[in-house]
Amino acid sequence: MIKVDCDNDVVVHKILEYLTMSFPTIFGESSLYVKIELTENIISFKSDIINRKFSFKRSEDTLVNSIKKAIHNNLIDYIENDDWGILTGIRPTKLFRKLLRKNEAEISKEILKTKFLVSEKKAELLNSIVEKELCILDKINLEDSYSLYINVPFCKSICNYCSFNSMLYSEEKSEIYIKKLMDEILREADYLKKAPTSIYIGGGTPTSLSTNQIYKLLKVVKDNFKESLEFTVECGRIDTLNEEKLNLLKDFGVSRISLNPQSSNESISKIINRPINLRDFENKYAMARKLGFDLINMDLILGLPTETADNMIRSIEYASKLKPENITIHNLSLKKGSKLFERNYHFENSIDTVIDFSKNYLRNKLYMPYYLYRQKKIIGNGENIGYSQLGKECIYNILIIEEVQDIIAFGMGSSSKFVSKDGKINQVLNFKNLKDYLNRNDEIFNKKLKYYANRG
Ligand code: SF4
Repeated sequence: MIKVDCDNDVVVHKILEYLTMSFPTIFGESSLYVKIELTENIISFKSDIINRKFSFKRSEDTLVNSIKKAIHNNLIDYIENDDWGILTGIRPTKLFRKLLRKNEAEISKEILKTKFLVSEKKAELLNSIVEKELCILDKINLEDSYSLYINVPFCKSICNYCSFNSMLYSEEKSEIYIKKLMDEILREADYLKKAPTSIYIGGGTPTSLSTNQIYKLLKVVKDNFKESLEFTVECGRIDTLNEEKLNLLKDFGVSRISLNPQSSNESISKIINRPINLRDFENKYAMARKLGFDLINMDLILGLPTETADNMIRSIEYASKLKPENITIHNLSLKKGSKLFERNYHFENSIDTVIDFSKNYLRNKLYMPYYLYRQKKIIGNGENIGYSQLGKECIYNILIIEEVQDIIAFGMGSSSKFVSKDGKINQVLNFKNLKDYLNRNDEIFNKKLKYYANRG
């Protein structure tokens, strides 16, 4: 528990965010109290682990950055991986892309290093990812189109690291939900006549729906939207998949699926309440290949309970041996709402060597990083990276992180984003609980209408 005490609310908010990202686990269950005295330019840290008082200099930089730099420089020994310096945003590639608009790559990297104390290694990583993103984005008509996100919040079991708004699948609830979801899509499709750039059905686990429910949902999409460049359905849990469902996805033009082992260790998969049998996983993967899916993603999470460096390395090797086109490596993020957060879970082992291993190993296997985002309370103060074989990058993943195109979202807890001409993001959040989603969706529709009118 971290408490920041200061007269300025913006400083409290920003410093709390910075401390949560830079010191995600060091304080364990003990609490940290930080007092910032703006008249004296003094910062005091009080906890069982750190008891320090130091001053900060107000430089040409913002007040918040001056305070962050003082904390960073004075407490560097306690920071879990200082590669990201004082940068806290979850979209560092978006920041780098903006810098590149005004500066050469070398100068942009230098700004990251001097202004935000980002390491050379991370600055170079951002540069390489943004170069790739720009190649992909340049080929897309961003302004004249949009992408779709459809949320299916049902799962076969709730993984204990999960903080999403997901529910256990029940036939009764899912029937009511799907009906509402289809009504929502149908009503708004009238305002979205152009072809979407990408469609993404996520959740939850969309394939936890019955075959008939998947059919109804895909039919509504197909009948009401023109063909997109890319169509992803998350099939995350292979225990929700069968040949019939995979055939259905194929018939409706789904071009990319995600089969997520998270770990190749069967015991760990049981601990996280997401049991996996590797032979079943390989069989379902082979089935998807046989049915013609030539763009498959696999998600892995590093830092799961009881996981050792060796386990994590084996998971990365396991995924790459199967040769999916995309591999996404997440560092576990301990978010409110997850069972692990409630249990005050702390990952004891170091993750740095595994992260370095994953980057080198995957590059050698010709997987290149193509999108990146950070999260609060992420283990090792790291980042999540999507790797891809050349030309197989997921457009939707880039769009959602870079926020360069309208994303129209349907379903409970979904978030639509409308990008104005000056780059400002206007967000419309759908209700996060089923009751409100079912009964109050008109309120969300009316908010979206305003932006549909602007789209012309
Ligand atoms: S499958 Fe995904 S959405 Fe469902 S409980 Fe697990 S992590 Fe959460």
